Amino acid sequence: MRGVCIVLLGAVVFAEQPRRPLVLQEMTWEDVRAYLKISDMVIIPLGSTEQQGPHLPLGNDFYEAFGIAKKISEKTGVIVAPLAFAGYSEYHMGFPGTVSVKTETLEQYLFECVSSLIRHGFKKIMFFNYHGGNNIVQAKLIHRINHTTPATAVAIGIGGTIRKDVPPDTYEKFFDWHAGLGETSILLYLHPELVRMERAENPKLTFRFTKEPEKLKELFEKNPAMARIWDEWIGVPEATGKGGASHEFSSNGIWTLNDVKKSNAELGKKRVEAMVDSVAEFIEEWKKAGSAR
Ligand SMILES: [Zn+2]
Repeated sequence: MRGVCIVLLGAVVFAEQPRRPLVLQEMTWEDVRAYLKISDMVIIPLGSTEQQGPHLPLGNDFYEAFGIAKKISEKTGVIVAPLAFAGYSEYHMGFPGTVSVKTETLEQYLFECVSSLIRHGFKKIMFFNYHGGNNIVQAKLIHRINHTTPATAVAIGIGGTIRKDVPPDTYEKFFDWHAGLGETSILLYLHPELVRMERAENPKLTFRFTKEPEKLKELFEKNPAMARIWDEWIGVPEATGKGGASHEFSSNGIWTLNDVKKSNAELGKKRVEAMVDSVAEFIEEWKKAGSAR
């Protein structure tokens, strides 16, 4: 009888779920017990606390991951559980305020957090990552969860193939990796109060292998192997001696060839909606597909 009541309560509480995001920390244990009667899915946003140029807050990647995850929750009714504010950001340490956690530490911490959720009955674990430095942690975590627990884990943000972005031709130039036109536009849409647009300045970029960063695209088209190697050089700690730490190649921490001053909330909205729609579609399919066990 009690079980039936809980199921009914769950149906009432969560029937309206697409209208409001469900955030684990804002729920009670009774809410979670009722939720688990109708769903075993959870979204874990992954971000960072690191320099984001002179105009974006240190928590940009976290706010973007959490903000987009909450929009996915509004659409699908899946709980969002933010478990970490920091990520692996060693290559941004040249700028004050950056916090970095070793990849092994972060993997172990998140694995223990997720193990708690699995013990309560969550079986479908989705990581919504929005920080490139976390990709390796995410990949290892997913492998560990899938190979050692009854749960199934997937990447639905960056570092995976489920999230869809707007077509690249929206961007004027291809290099827009960090705190540039794309990320600034997204935060202008999600949290305009945290963006200091009056401080946004385009960076001076200095790469060891070319004096003409503006011609990177041409250079890579002519020599694709160069693009692959460059990928490995950009975003590595200063101690490696390769000149790939943020403060070594960017004058203000921004990694873009675009005009960051052209960032706008409309582009941000377009990008967020494309990601939310593609992930929501995947979640609805997974709900239908069911569980491995
Ligand atoms: Zn980042």
